[in-house]
Amino acid sequence: MNIIIKYFFIILIFTKPSFSLDLKGDFQQGGLIIGKTNPIFEVFVQGEKVKINKEGFFIFGIPRDQIKDIVIKIQNKSDINQIVKKVKKRKFKIQRINGLPKRKVSPNEEDMKRIREEGKLIVKAKNVNSDLSYFFKGFIRPANGITTGVFGSQRILNGKPRRPHFGIDIAAAKGTKVINSNTGKVILAEKNLFFTGGTIIVEHGHGLISIYSHLEKILVKKGDIINKGKWIATVGSTGRSTGPHLDFRLYCRNIPVDPDLVIK
Ligand SMILES: [Zn+2]
Repeated sequence: MNIIIKYFFIILIFTKPSFSLDLKGDFQQGGLIIGKTNPIFEVFVQGEKVKINKEGFFIFGIPRDQIKDIVIKIQNKSDINQIVKKVKKRKFKIQRINGLPKRKVSPNEEDMKRIREEGKLIVKAKNVNSDLSYFFKGFIRPANGITTGVFGSQRILNGKPRRPHFGIDIAAAKGTKVINSNTGKVILAEKNLFFTGGTIIVEHGHGLISIYSHLEKILVKKGDIINKGKWIATVGSTGRSTGPHLDFRLYCRNIPVDPDLVIK
């Protein structure tokens, strides 16, 4: 009997997978968190199940206006581990931009049609959530130049309040090289969208995408797998833009995150 009980406990010890959790990133508004746990577990962030790859990596973004704590649940059957993280609040700037063409700030009826069609392409790209898994390899700055716009700033365009700015703007001369910030698959490559002009969207897996806007030349096409650091485009001033610059954004399953917190 004794032996049976001992045997039973040994089985219990060996069948219960070990729980470990490593979280990298900033728990602040606009942060991107890369987690790693035992791949046998299921991961829920704010009640939503997130993808986990075979090495145990998963990602999620923290919204710009997040105030409540972030709840992460790591679960394997009855083994439930819950972690609660405080989110650091930030103060965002107000940015006024004047001198934009009137049509780009208050589009006419015909423009609105075009904007709606193009919007569908962007929404589709933002909702991609593939099993690719390049996201944990780290991001690099996609162009050399001066930062003239930051994440989260409230925008007032030609005196009219508009949505916050979710990109970083890097001002550089027309023709400056734009390189791929992290390995991924090109899911959109368009020469001339109404707002963003020449635009490339790259997916890095699990719904993390990077968007490059106002491009002059585009050197990649939809479907290409592009390595980190590869030359993909040149800086331009296409779309709604007042001068040559690169607008670079990161979205994690439709949540914009701050590139300045992610780029190393
Ligand atoms: Zn911008």
